[in-house]
Amino acid sequence: MPKAIFITATDTGAGKTVISCALGLALKKKGIDVGVMKPFQCSGNDADFLIKTLEIKDEKSLVNPYYAKEPLAPYVAFKRARIKIDLEKIFNAYKELKKRHEFLIVEGAGGLLVPIKENYLTADLIRDLDIPALIVARAGLGTLNHSLITQRYALDYGIKVKGVILNGFKGKTLAEKTNPRVLRDFLDVPLLAVVPFVKNVNSKKGLSALAKELGRSLSLESLLKKERTRTKRLRSDDKLYLWHPFTQMKDWIKDRPLIIEEAKGCYLKDTEGRWYLDGVSSLWVNVHGHRKPEIDAAIAMQMRKSAHSTLLGLAHPPAIDLARELVRIAPYGLRKVFYSDSGSSAVEIALKMAYQYWQHLGSRKRKFIHLENAYHGDTIGAVSVGGIDLFHKAYKDLLFDSYTIDSPYCYRCPTKKLYPLCDVDCLGGLREILECEHEQVAALIVEPLVQGASGMLAWPKGIYKKMAGLCKKYNVLLIADEVAVGIGRTGTMFASEQEEVTPDILCLAKGITAGYLPLAATLTTNEIFDAFLGEHKEQKTFFHGHTYTGNPLACAAALANLQLFRKEKTLKKLQPKIKFLSKELERFKRLEHTGDIRQKGFMVGIELVKDRLTKEPYPWEEKIGIKVCQKAREYGVILRPLGNVIVLMPPLAISKEELSQLLGAAYKAISFVTG
Ligand SMILES: *Cc1c(COP(=O)(O)O)cnc(C)c1O
Repeated sequence: MPKAIFITATDTGAGKTVISCALGLALKKKGIDVGVMKPFQCSGNDADFLIKTLEIKDEKSLVNPYYAKEPLAPYVAFKRARIKIDLEKIFNAYKELKKRHEFLIVEGAGGLLVPIKENYLTADLIRDLDIPALIVARAGLGTLNHSLITQRYALDYGIKVKGVILNGFKGKTLAEKTNPRVLRDFLDVPLLAVVPFVKNVNSKKGLSALAKELGRSLSLESLLKKERTRTKRLRSDDKLYLWHPFTQMKDWIKDRPLIIEEAKGCYLKDTEGRWYLDGVSSLWVNVHGHRKPEIDAAIAMQMRKSAHSTLLGLAHPPAIDLARELVRIAPYGLRKVFYSDSGSSAVEIALKMAYQYWQHLGSRKRKFIHLENAYHGDTIGAVSVGGIDLFHKAYKDLLFDSYTIDSPYCYRCPTKKLYPLCDVDCLGGLREILECEHEQVAALIVEPLVQGASGMLAWPKGIYKKMAGLCKKYNVLLIADEVAVGIGRTGTMFASEQEEVTPDILCLAKGITAGYLPLAATLTTNEIFDAFLGEHKEQKTFFHGHTYTGNPLACAAALANLQLFRKEKTLKKLQPKIKFLSKELERFKRLEHTGDIRQKGFMVGIELVKDRLTKEPYPWEEKIGIKVCQKAREYGVILRPLGNVIVLMPPLAISKEELSQLLGAAYKAISFVTG
């Protein structure tokens, strides 16, 4: 149940305080223990009035942490009074009062856009308190405009609006008479109550009359609704109707699935109101945290223009602007952007592009080379160049043939020597195939620097560059699948940058929209692009395109994402956090069953083994990874394993404190389960 509500208004003087009082009285009448809070008061005595009317026993310093004498917006009033506003003080008072009461009414100062401090409005406070809002509007001319502006802004800003209360209704003027009806037509949230004008509203009698009116027209139940029965219903419907990806549904059905309803920053909230740290960036996609105002706004803004139009035969600004931006930041030489909507599609496109490219050149090159342990997606082409037997063996007969080469999985390399002392040549296989078969080989496809899905296999430095060199030497295209490693995940915008490689084709997805919407891009060079140019009748066209290719909303989100990288210096701020992460991971080595700890930037894999000496893996049936992640959940952190490998991949914007929380929970969960 929403244990608190924020009372805001369309304007100052709309009657927030009387409505707060009346609501408090109505709830008290139902036997509910009510608390109040007025974070900022600038002149007047609303806080005292609330305290007195509702017989509040809490300290005044909690109920009203900030008071200034002049009737001005808090930003101005407290500046003039030389009082520095510390938001933590408000958050702490809020937490404390919420703990003490069954229901807390928080009254704002003025409307949503009233400034509180630099770059901080009342709307920001509501969001930060994470509390649903109720909008009080006054009856009369002008209220339609004010109410609609307020609710629209609130919703766009990610504030949950319970509804609007029209206050002081006399029903005399034509405007007043028609307002409720029109509001019901135009509001996107319910008009919860039309409260009649009550005489002497500040008197005890007046107030209780108002409380009665409010109690009559407003469904208090809707404010108090319990969420538990809803979760139960959702769980049961989930099991009835959903088939989850990469999930053994027989196990799932026995479980109590967690249902995530909201998210904010690096946290996810389930339907029962519990918050969890998003330890794997909602499966490797989130970048700046959830509900990032700039991205929310960019999508909302684009939505007003168009949600979708096609790139088949037409163009649109977000797709053009994003393509230009991607080319600007991509490894030098990648000049063209082909959009799609998932990592797998981006890979399919890369494969088809490479394949057709050689045909246009009149060459016989038709085969691909991929790595053992490779993961490039789940569509048939991507699976054909996949190297994870567990995922791929069932479809063997459907797949096209491809050469496999060793993956630099040093931990399980037979020499047991550390790179660069290692005398096993990981690239021996590649050299051999290229030497003998290069005339057949169209392209080598790799996940540069880290093979993600097979367990965060981080490569020794230099291998990728050597691969690129061999491809050049033998005239074979290099496809860099940066779906997971791209967009900052390894510490640089693209993994290829770290070894100064420009692949011929580069695939992006996952983080490209900062985890907001499905979008993918396949980037390539002018050389490849030009090979597809020809007269219409030559049919050299690249015959490929998904219906939602380059969706404008997704492109707008991606543009906002890339802008944030610049504005917030995301990559620069990431570097000390990467170091902190490395340092903290050291202590995981003390745990008896950690075999290997691999890290590249913000991608971490902790491989658990049954026996550290022999590196004997835990048997699959033991579900050790799953168990650790289940335990971590009890500590308030969401993780998702890859077999026996525990993955940590937090949003790039995570704070050091949150990172500590993540590491702490992972450490405790591993030592509990393996101990
Ligand atoms: C996730 C992933 C894909 C597949 O992306 P989808 O959007 O899930 O289709 C492809 N390649 C790599 C390296 C990935 O990590």
